[in-house]
Amino acid sequence: MKISMIGHSTVLIEMGGMRILTDPYFGLGGNLAYARIKPPACERGEMKDVNLVLVSHNHFDHTDGPFFRQIPSATPVIAPSKTAWVTKLKGSKNLIGMSPWQPRTFGAVEVTAVPAWHSTVTHGYVLRSGGTAVYFTGDTYYADFLERIAREFKPQIVLMPVATFRIPLTMGEKGALKAARTLSPKVIIPIHLGIRPRAPFLRTSQSAGRFIEKLRNEGNPAAVAYLHEGESWSDEASADKMRTAS
Ligand SMILES: [Zn+2]
Repeated sequence: MKISMIGHSTVLIEMGGMRILTDPYFGLGGNLAYARIKPPACERGEMKDVNLVLVSHNHFDHTDGPFFRQIPSATPVIAPSKTAWVTKLKGSKNLIGMSPWQPRTFGAVEVTAVPAWHSTVTHGYVLRSGGTAVYFTGDTYYADFLERIAREFKPQIVLMPVATFRIPLTMGEKGALKAARTLSPKVIIPIHLGIRPRAPFLRTSQSAGRFIEKLRNEGNPAAVAYLHEGESWSDEASADKMRTAS
């Protein structure tokens, strides 16, 4: 098991012999409201050989049209079935729409779409292989379905947002602390840290570092692997990559 931060919510998860890429976003320009803070760790072409792509939703910072057009036409791209046509319009070819709680098997990995609560149709995904469950939350606020995910999947590794903006797009510090209590994972990997509002008054002082501090203060034993662009966490060498501050 190896998890590499490409940037923002784009993460390469290597498990069960599969290379799985989440929410591809390689653009540098952001959009009118949000700027990209740091470039991704690699270019689109370096991720062309992944076996599976997971799309949580269709916002600009989670779907990359040029990437969809570059990957081989057989590479499966999973997206919420309700808005799969939008992902298709953006260029994905072998698009597979999934509905919440629906499992599907790819090689040795079982993928289950799970609900997410965001400003548009969004899914999270739970990946299971060889007794390990990894939960990629996508963009979500805290909601009751996290309790069901905790019960049904007991994910040991959770990739989730831990900081947000004045107009929240995802869970912020408070929601993330609650999610950490509900899910009680062994390892939390912060995601969605690659963009920020262009308007300074919409930013907050929330950060991964502050989340880690608060998690420690409330005595939560979960480890946090705070990965910068290009850094990896693996279950064998996790100690090397652990960070405790931003
Ligand atoms: Zn987003």
